[in-house]
Amino acid sequence: MLPTRGYAAMQAGSKLEPFTFTRREVGPDDVLITIRYCGICHSDIHQARDEWGGSIFPMVPGHEIVGTVSRVGSAVDRFREGDIVGVGCFVDSCRVCSSCARGLEQYCEEGMILTYNGLDKQGQPTYGGYSTQIVVDQRYVLHIPSGLPLEGTAPLLCAGITTYSPLRQWGVGPGHKLAVVGLGGLGHMAVKLGRAFGAEVTVLSHSEIKRKDAERLGASDFVVISQETSLAHLARRFDCMVDTVSTVHDVDALLELLKVDGTLILVGAPNASLSISPFALILKRRRLVGSLIGGIRETQEMLDFCAAHGITSDVEVIPIHYVNEAYERVVRGDVRFRFVIDLASLEQT
Ligand code: NAP
Ligand code: ZN
Ligand code: ZN
Repeated sequence: MLPTRGYAAMQAGSKLEPFTFTRREVGPDDVLITIRYCGICHSDIHQARDEWGGSIFPMVPGHEIVGTVSRVGSAVDRFREGDIVGVGCFVDSCRVCSSCARGLEQYCEEGMILTYNGLDKQGQPTYGGYSTQIVVDQRYVLHIPSGLPLEGTAPLLCAGITTYSPLRQWGVGPGHKLAVVGLGGLGHMAVKLGRAFGAEVTVLSHSEIKRKDAERLGASDFVVISQETSLAHLARRFDCMVDTVSTVHDVDALLELLKVDGTLILVGAPNASLSISPFALILKRRRLVGSLIGGIRETQEMLDFCAAHGITSDVEVIPIHYVNEAYERVVRGDVRFRFVIDLASLEQT
């Protein structure tokens, strides 16, 4: 067993604190990764606070992992010591079901094994990227293309693929009007990727203070949404919307902004039901769809696309001991646009 240091929430909602645990030995197909950077996704907070239910504690969060291969198992043929690699939201799946066969491991019929807050095939809890190292089967490890700044690349492993995948699935491209709802970690990646795919992007945000950032990221329009402001002037404007909002909100009001046959892609995952009026869909043959991260093949495609187009996340790099304050700031919407933990700071504690 490999002794490993990290930061964990010991119970629901408790502050994260230093935590020592063990990783499994490097098996024939495994890669041992020394973690360099790990992004803080809002899903880390939902799970550490058990907002979705069923969380497993102690919990070492983190599924936006970039690091260096420090050892490989005897059968590993895709990676070598010293390679820069990434790990996203899952570290295994059944490998044989119809979803896995299609490269859609995130929709595995047996359930993917989450990078943290999951149980591995031996029934042991999985621990994530707020830690010094991780052992992962090579099938679930990504190549990080050279030339990408590593801290800005870590968030691509979740925020990047979670927006890339549905934008591709629903064919967003030149001539499309795309709205991005919520300018946080996912939202700012949706703006960058939507632009790179050739769409005209509008940001719908709850805070006026993000206007300049939205323009800098490539949005051509910015609209503040609040209970006082009417969105009537945007009715039937968009072909597609990406909804990244992390709390319960008015989806009907957003659906009204879609054209006939428009698509609202829900990626934000509030902890309670959203109400939908049937007529918001029926009257204009609109679609309301969901999307969950992306499979390994598509995640690699996204990384290669981002490298080719010089796309990374806008990040604020923090030492690990700042993580609890960072969580509070994410919940307040006070981050531009992703906190990323420099794991060298854990070595120094
Ligand atoms: P984030 O950085 O906190 O961004 C969420 C944004 O939502 C905020 O920046 C804010 O943008 C808006 N927002 C927050 N509270 C709001 C409120 N009360 N009313 C309206 N808008 C509000 O979070 P994230 O990491 O991007 O994640 C967003 C959501 O996606 C989370 O629920 C997360 O769990 C989920 N997620 C889903 C997947 C998936 O596969 N589907 C993957 C990763 C994350 P403005 O200030 O601009 O309004
Ligand atoms: Zn995430
Ligand atoms: Zn499967």
